[in-house]
Amino acid sequence: MPLPLSKRPAWAEIDLDALASNVRKIRSLIGPDVRFYAVCKNNAYGCGAAECAATMLHAGVDAFAVSDPDDAERIRDAGIHASILLYGATTPDQAEAIADLGLIVTIHDQQGLEAFEQLKRSVQVHVEVDCGYGRLGFVPEEWPAVFERLQQSRHLDVMGLYTHLVRAEDKLAIDRQVQRLDRAIADARAAGFQDLETMAASSRILLGYPELNLTAINPGRALYGMMEQPWLDGLTFDPVIRSIKSRVLQVKTLPADFEVDDVRHMADPGRLKTAVIAFGFKDGLPAQPDGGTVLVRGQRARIIAGRATEHTILDVTDIPDVVPGDEVVLVGAQGGNRITAAQAVQFYGMPMIELMARMSLSVPRIYSGGA
Ligand SMILES: *Cc1c(COP(=O)(O)O)cnc(C)c1O
Repeated sequence: MPLPLSKRPAWAEIDLDALASNVRKIRSLIGPDVRFYAVCKNNAYGCGAAECAATMLHAGVDAFAVSDPDDAERIRDAGIHASILLYGATTPDQAEAIADLGLIVTIHDQQGLEAFEQLKRSVQVHVEVDCGYGRLGFVPEEWPAVFERLQQSRHLDVMGLYTHLVRAEDKLAIDRQVQRLDRAIADARAAGFQDLETMAASSRILLGYPELNLTAINPGRALYGMMEQPWLDGLTFDPVIRSIKSRVLQVKTLPADFEVDDVRHMADPGRLKTAVIAFGFKDGLPAQPDGGTVLVRGQRARIIAGRATEHTILDVTDIPDVVPGDEVVLVGAQGGNRITAAQAVQFYGMPMIELMARMSLSVPRIYSGGA
């Protein structure tokens, strides 16, 4: 019984041993001198940054990367002092408060650069260059001047430069972006930065373009077992969110002459047996009228009718002996049957890192294994 009896029965099970194993697998793919930043944005992709950080350090990561200062605080509050890189996430007026957090700060535009410079205190920074994403970062024509400016800075301690590559599935697009990245590195060298950390490897790049594991990597989804095809190619990463679960609240067969406003009841009056479960929008379950099965008593039960805030209705007509209190598995294994995260992605039509995190972050998380 993972939840206290008094709690609403909806929860996620997080497997820290799977996380450690994924970290070791990635560590084994890279050189011993490559700095391994574990991305912990979105509260470690829904797995809980505070709980995951120590396990990841033990298993071989060197540092962390986050986009939200709250995630950095979660890691610090867990008593962890390793370096944390903050991706672009704050505005120039927040520079002082951010400097107080003791992170490696991303410098991605002129205003941010000057805001940190004007603090007149030592701040570790990473420079983000835009090689074709069009999101954050300096564009190529700015690079020579930016690196010159940083070379003259008396306060900003430049650790490295990074970029986030897009369209990893398109080799030509990656080649174009990498040519620009090479220029950024050359511009930094020309300004006198000889041994900057250089980083471009999110999970897909790490696995699909091993030649781009420069002096540092920053994978996220692979750590948490959320890689989707076609990137896996013989490798497996264990799901860290091992399951998303709930319980049956009520089972009933509506009488044939009982009128309800649901077509599926009306199509089969008097026969449809339903189970209502304690899981709905509040728990991150997406609205997707057609599709979705869950496991009850080891068998697949279809989600029917509209999903509500805290409840969802299942068709359990062909599953004998379902009673209130029965465990329901939305993602995970039960009785020799399994719903994988990849199948859930098919049901709910949402990227895995979004779907799994939104459910996991909406319910209590229960941890097993780990450092
Ligand atoms: C999210 C993110 C990553 C990690 O991406 P994954 O695809 O989850 O591995 C790397 N770099 C930046 C800048 C990011 O925002």
